[in-house]
Amino acid sequence: MGRCCRFCQRQFEPSRFHPEQIACSDQPCQRQRRSQNRKRKLALDAEYRQVCRDSARKWRANHPCYWKQYRAAQPDAVARNRTQQRQRDLRRRLAHLANNNSALDLKSSAAGVWWLGPHGADLANNNLAATQVVILQGSLRRPPLHQPSCKQHPSGLPAAPA
Ligand SMILES: [Zn+2]
Repeated sequence: MGRCCRFCQRQFEPSRFHPEQIACSDQPCQRQRRSQNRKRKLALDAEYRQVCRDSARKWRANHPCYWKQYRAAQPDAVARNRTQQRQRDLRRRLAHLANNNSALDLKSSAAGVWWLGPHGADLANNNLAATQVVILQGSLRRPPLHQPSCKQHPSGLPAAPA
């Protein structure tokens, strides 16, 4: 009796020793499973997060030339990373706006940025998620109130453009 792999959707036989197995033994599926586990652990376990941060810091201190060489050798990857980081920031900003119930303000704004696709589902808590289309003013201003007291405000955001 087989089971469907969560990642490639093909059937596989779970190992006798791991009856809970959710992924087949193919390399890409195992890689995805490990990466997913790691992300989950990072999200849930503050101590693990700290350990990872410390070891990354140590590694960077011991390899000061790495990023310089990487950037020189991989300009495309650097640009891609930058774009992805911007998208992550935007998503966090949008989640923040959604949590503050600024949906009406968003909808009536002039179009600057469009946010399309399945990530709309991350913006739970209100009807933004249903439309999966968000229109923002170009400046991406934060809502004026709520800032100091908002518990859900993620730390580490870059300062909003003035
Ligand atoms: Zn698979």
